Amino acid sequence: MVKFCPKCGSIMIPKKEGGKTVFVCPKCGYREEAKKEDSVVIKSKTKHSPRDKLVVIEDDMPPTASLLKGVVRCPKCGSDEVYYWMVQTRSADEPMTRFYRCKKCGYTWREYE
Ligand SMILES: [Zn+2]
Ligand SMILES: [Zn+2]
Repeated sequence: MVKFCPKCGSIMIPKKEGGKTVFVCPKCGYREEAKKEDSVVIKSKTKHSPRDKLVVIEDDMPPTASLLKGVVRCPKCGSDEVYYWMVQTRSADEPMTRFYRCKKCGYTWREYE
């Protein structure tokens, strides 16, 4: 499932903290403790909203990339284990670009704000 930050609308990243799952917004730092039903599990119906723009790119994945499970699905093979990182493409005024790379097939795509 994808959880959006209620403050800025970014996709929140699930993190394990002391046995609990906490969703952290990579953009504004907003944190929210996951409820039981928010646990990071595979949901069968993952829809992309119309604003999603998927483009194939060949950027290198930084070591800071985090592995998402059950949050984003690879549009190519359907795997839900996907690496995620953000890149400031141009000036600091430009929105961050989100990058995803499928762990299984290596397909890489990006998503603009
Ligand atoms: Zn936020
Ligand atoms: Zn894939």
